[in-house]
Amino acid sequence: MHDTFKAYVIEKHEDGRSQSSSWREMRSLDLMEGDVTVRVRSTTMNYKDALAVTGKSPVVRRFPMIPGIDFAGEVIASASPDFAAGDQVILNGWGVGETHMGGYSEIARVRSDWLLHKPDGLSCTQCMAIGTAGYTAALCVLRLQEHGSTPDEGPVLVTGASGGVGSFAIALLSALGFDVIASTGKMSEEAYLKGLGAGTIVDRAELSEKGRPLGKERFAAAVDSVGGQTLANVLASVKYGGIAAACGLAQSYNLPATVMPFILRNVTLAGVDSVMASKDQRKAAWQLLTDHLDLDHLASISRKISREEIEDAASAMLDGKLRGRVVIDMS
Ligand code: NDP
Repeated sequence: MHDTFKAYVIEKHEDGRSQSSSWREMRSLDLMEGDVTVRVRSTTMNYKDALAVTGKSPVVRRFPMIPGIDFAGEVIASASPDFAAGDQVILNGWGVGETHMGGYSEIARVRSDWLLHKPDGLSCTQCMAIGTAGYTAALCVLRLQEHGSTPDEGPVLVTGASGGVGSFAIALLSALGFDVIASTGKMSEEAYLKGLGAGTIVDRAELSEKGRPLGKERFAAAVDSVGGQTLANVLASVKYGGIAAACGLAQSYNLPATVMPFILRNVTLAGVDSVMASKDQRKAAWQLLTDHLDLDHLASISRKISREEIEDAASAMLDGKLRGRVVIDMS
């Protein structure tokens, strides 16, 4: 059964620091343990995948490793009662592509409890255009909704707006009726961001320099994927009782903030992790995407690349030059 297949494999060199990668022939016995085997149809590139492919950060914690934290495809063998051969499935996170061989492969073998049935109405390509970035944006929006945020409370800020998480956060929030302020370093992307539903575009420079512990109350809520000084300034600008959902560190993992927004304005800082989110949270996030994402946006947010373009896309992503998302066709 599918004894040999192609996969993108990262090897660590003997010096323990440098790495090399290539597309190579693998055998099914080279894969790691799991009760479901999937023929991967599509995968994608997330920030973490870019770090893994370039080796710029120690994302991969086991070698050899096949990166790719997301994939969509069909089950070809299953020892689980929850999945049968022919089922269409998706996977996001769970350490796949970091500690367990991932989606940059024609075949993947994983644990059944990591898989979801592919949402009805979305193709494998569309699921990967959304990927962890879109699913994380949905988790952030759910956090805002759980907090009780509603459109009549005022505008919601989205930082890292032209990135994957930012693009989907804008599209979802706008579809839900929120007035979205998009913060971007690429003012040239104004038309793209407005096309997704952003009402106002601000230059991220406004938010990225050291600010005051408390500023003018500008945002009812925020979805932040950049961290650092930006998140500190966002917290200082969230209105009384508002919330900032923090999921990323594109600017920095530091948070040079004070407690003032929390103790004087009752502001909530909500952490969002997609990797270990529960199955119920995942289902809710994908349901939100299925119900509210205008699929026409996928054409502007994402584009297909070939397997051979993975390394170029990874470098462009880390240089902040990639707009939106890329889908890698594995068929
Ligand atoms: P992208 O690279 O697609 O987007 C990041 C965006 O951040 C860029 O497009 C840019 O947007 C902005 N940005 C880049 N550098 C800086 C900087 N120095 N200062 C301020 N803004 C900057 O990545 P993703 O959207 O896929 O991921 C965003 C972040 O979220 C990453 O840090 C990623 O690791 C994290 N993440 C976390 C997850 C979780 O589970 N918590 C899941 C998925 C992602 P612009 O030019 O418009 O300002």
